Amino acid sequence: MHAKQRLTITIDGPAGTGKSTTARLVAQRLGLEFLDTGAMYRAAALIALEQRLDLTDGPAVALAVERGAMCFDWAADPPRLLLTRPRPRDVTDRLRDGDVTLASSSIARLPEVRAILVAAQRRLRDEHPRLVSEGRDQGSVVFPDADVKFFLDATPEARARRRADQLRAAGQGVDEERLLREIIERDAADRNRATGPLIVPDDAVVIDTTDLSHEQVLAALERAVRARLGPIR
Ligand code: C5P
Repeated sequence: MHAKQRLTITIDGPAGTGKSTTARLVAQRLGLEFLDTGAMYRAAALIALEQRLDLTDGPAVALAVERGAMCFDWAADPPRLLLTRPRPRDVTDRLRDGDVTLASSSIARLPEVRAILVAAQRRLRDEHPRLVSEGRDQGSVVFPDADVKFFLDATPEARARRRADQLRAAGQGVDEERLLREIIERDAADRNRATGPLIVPDDAVVIDTTDLSHEQVLAALERAVRARLGPIR
């Protein structure tokens, strides 16, 4: 019997490209664990909101994030996010709320917060060495040594349409033009920030998901991984 190989796959790209779903499913298919780094930025934002911190104050938010001691419950699929201090609580369901989404994009600009979360992500990879990690900077900054790097993209219009479909399916009202404006603004913020900006790593496999179904994206990723690495043990 061979020992199981260490394996890191990164999936980066802007919001609305289906990254999270794809990352989770590809991890399942290949028998790897799944790390949603956006959830960590969202949890950091929740901490800052609950403590009414100034969302531009890097040192204050970073200190609160360290004190909050976030961690994942890896027994769940996908893993749930817990804040462990002052008392353990599962905040996963709160992370997708509008106020947290908005605040996460502000605190993601703070270099002090990014430094803490990048270090935490590297420690998590040491503890979970067979990992699909999804975010904005996973292949470029956090795991430049990843075995296979992906960058998922799609036109802003396609991404706004997908988001609108999700909201409608959840029974919420939708202003598609506003969604498109927000996506374009969030892209600009992600691409232009000084620390950990959204870029395509040199050695990434780029997949344009505009006209592809989830199943097609998944098949393309799986093909690329197997072509590069051969059979996964
Ligand atoms: O992917 P998701 O929408 O959950 O990300 C939440 C926020 O965290 C976004 O504003 C995104 O820019 C930021 N983020 C980041 N770096 C990551 C993952 C997410 O800056 N690795």
